[in-house]
Amino acid sequence: MKSRKHLIVGNWKMYIDTPLKGKRLWASVSRMAVRTKRSAVVLCPPMALLGSVAPSRSHEKIFLGAQDLFWDGAPARTGETSPYVLRSLGVRFVLVGHSERRALGETDEIISAKARAALSVGITPIICVGEKVRDHHGDYFSYLEAHITKSCASVSKKQASKIVIAYEPIWAIGKSAADAMTPEMLHETVLFIKKILVRLYGRKIGLLIPILYGGSVEPGNVEGLVAHGTVDGFLVGHASVDAEAFCDIIRAADAL
Ligand code: PEP
Repeated sequence: MKSRKHLIVGNWKMYIDTPLKGKRLWASVSRMAVRTKRSAVVLCPPMALLGSVAPSRSHEKIFLGAQDLFWDGAPARTGETSPYVLRSLGVRFVLVGHSERRALGETDEIISAKARAALSVGITPIICVGEKVRDHHGDYFSYLEAHITKSCASVSKKQASKIVIAYEPIWAIGKSAADAMTPEMLHETVLFIKKILVRLYGRKIGLLIPILYGGSVEPGNVEGLVAHGTVDGFLVGHASVDAEAFCDIIRAADAL
């Protein structure tokens, strides 16, 4: 049986620091992305480059994403980016609650408000969750459950089919394929996350919500993670700014 369509998201973080580098990377990735059969690609440049890297015409396989947004559209918010600005720039997805932002003080409540703000303008929030450590007693399961429940608190049952969950165990981020999760561990965790989503939104909707994995995804481990990890796609950090590596990841995910 064919699995669902895969979503491959590239989080450029601050790795890409000029419009020219961004445009080049976008062009290389889109040449590959348009040939995929069952995948869609989202590229998330730094905020300041959102208006300059993507061509103005839209494409059904490659979408513009943002790395963050503010939780309301009130004008007096110095330095923040409103959901309306993102929408006007053609942004279709936005990361909320990335662990690097949680480390700067973002709480589950803030993340929940950001998810609501994105949904209010028709942008899909990719809600990032993940435990800091894996303890031997399995406490990370209850941590994860609380994390997901609180981060999704503002998402109603009606809106839930429009969100994406990115499971990113913090201990596996920014390393190499050897440090990423094994497909078996991922499979177990994805089933656990599905159980939580079913509890929150019911079986029909809960099982529809795509779950991505992020944390040291590289061309060398993507096949096993897709084949045995039961994920719907990936959130890729460092490997997403290497056009060749990222295209290999897309190719491998698309083939399965
Ligand atoms: C991330 O930070 O979202 C991420 C997945 O990073 P990396 O792929 O570099 O581990």
